[in-house]
Amino acid sequence: MNGIYCLIINVKKNINVNVGALGIMQFSNGTYVYVGSAQNNLKKRIDRHLSQNKKIHWHIDYLLNNKNVNIKKVFYNHAGKEEECKVANHLSDIEEPIKGFGCSDCNCSSHLFRLGSLVNLEELGFKENGMQME
Ligand SMILES: [Zn+2]
Repeated sequence: MNGIYCLIINVKKNINVNVGALGIMQFSNGTYVYVGSAQNNLKKRIDRHLSQNKKIHWHIDYLLNNKNVNIKKVFYNHAGKEEECKVANHLSDIEEPIKGFGCSDCNCSSHLFRLGSLVNLEELGFKENGMQME
């Protein structure tokens, strides 16, 4: 099973996180959404994001590794990689992009957004994850 996914992420308080090549970034407390794609094994990728013990590889790993950060919900959609950037572009119109985050491989301004209003991901074709996470 492959597809794209959105992680709804809670940042409990204002934090500074060292995001590898991006350097130290400030995240104010609030809710964020991260858009990603797994074209081989979606469940494995999501399990990896939820796991506490992993090698830091992507920008998102640095953020999720912080003790004040946790994943609240996971949404997924069986769609190709091109949809990942379409969703990111849509979100950058309506939410606050965290510049340069998670988009080393594409031309998007970001794949991580701080949510002002709670965006309706179901309207964008996503389903809430039924795969058990804990
Ligand atoms: Zn993109």
